[in-house]
Amino acid sequence: METVEPFEEAIDLIRDAGGDAFKLCFQCGLCTASCPWNTVRTFMPHRMICESRYGLVDLEDESWWQCTTCDQCVERCPRGVAITDILGSVRKILLDFEYRMAPASLRSAMGGLSGEGNPWGGERKDRSDWIKDTGIKTFSEADEALYFSCCTPAYDTRLGNVARATGRILQKAGVGFGTLGSKESCCGESVRKVGNQDVFESLAKNNIKAFQENGVKEIIATSPHCYTTFKNDYPELGGIFEVSHVTQVLDRLISQGKISFTKEVKKKVIYHDPCYLGRHNGIYDEPRNVLQSIPGLQLLDELNAKENSLCCGGGGGRIWMETLKGERFSDILVAQAAQQGADILATACPYCILNFKDSVATGEMDGDLEIMDVAELVELAL
Ligand code: SF4
Ligand code: SF4
Repeated sequence: METVEPFEEAIDLIRDAGGDAFKLCFQCGLCTASCPWNTVRTFMPHRMICESRYGLVDLEDESWWQCTTCDQCVERCPRGVAITDILGSVRKILLDFEYRMAPASLRSAMGGLSGEGNPWGGERKDRSDWIKDTGIKTFSEADEALYFSCCTPAYDTRLGNVARATGRILQKAGVGFGTLGSKESCCGESVRKVGNQDVFESLAKNNIKAFQENGVKEIIATSPHCYTTFKNDYPELGGIFEVSHVTQVLDRLISQGKISFTKEVKKKVIYHDPCYLGRHNGIYDEPRNVLQSIPGLQLLDELNAKENSLCCGGGGGRIWMETLKGERFSDILVAQAAQQGADILATACPYCILNFKDSVATGEMDGDLEIMDVAELVELAL
């Protein structure tokens, strides 16, 4: 049997990059047992943690880029190990020492984030193109809240209506809001999770400066990824704002009677819990309250709902990386929704919507299952 010495220099690098949590792991393997990758391929986070602990990391192993940061393993770990922090710290070292080994699509997204403030290849000046013909205005200090659409609805034409529907609902409900258009940059959540702390800090500082200079106190976010970043990560960089996810705002406006419905939506709807809204932030009830308040709508839950929700596959920067056919969690989720008899698979995250729309298209399910954001369903009933 070969004996391998711990590689102290690598251990120190991982520790310095935030991966010190490996010392708590006692190798029970529950993280591997609970990781959704093992429904489609072999993926062993407990072994990766062990490799990190002894500094024996294979920089060419593509597994380091697989984790979607869905937090399923973190929820189950009996020792409270910050598993995604360990995997993220190795990603940081990979980017520092073997940048060329990062997936090409990821390098392209990071280039766009550094240059134009978004990962989708759009120009900064076009960030507010989605607003056209909606009457949504530029944020001013007199407004109650900044509406932050997220880069994905801003640049992906398939998702622009999510932001427009949200804007039109807020207008009808009498909420004073605006956007900061080309002054906004990506929130930086996913680039941080792939290990690029420098680009994250640059994006975050740019946003914090723009928000503070324009007198923003409250932010309404469409993406759970933006929501979690503004709420949980920006304060440590000096950006302290009141942050709500759109579903929380809609739930509040409906219960206050500021949104009232005039139409029925006679559809069977399955709600998918996005990881960053549910497991990461505990927001399970508000989107369901909103959907249940829509007249005529029949709400069903996914087979694995709430804390057990299966990730769509888009977190942790995976939204920018290719996932092989046969390994896409979103394919499983749209197939389950169709088998449960749903007309619509609804969710509240642009990454989930993007992945589900791709799965419906590649699975030739167009016409069988519609993918919609909760806000789009609300607008249908106004
Ligand atoms: S579940 Fe926690 S303690 Fe068990 S192997 Fe995974 S990280 Fe280690
Ligand atoms: S965060 Fe999700 S994808 Fe990543 S190792 Fe844990 S269970 Fe697997």
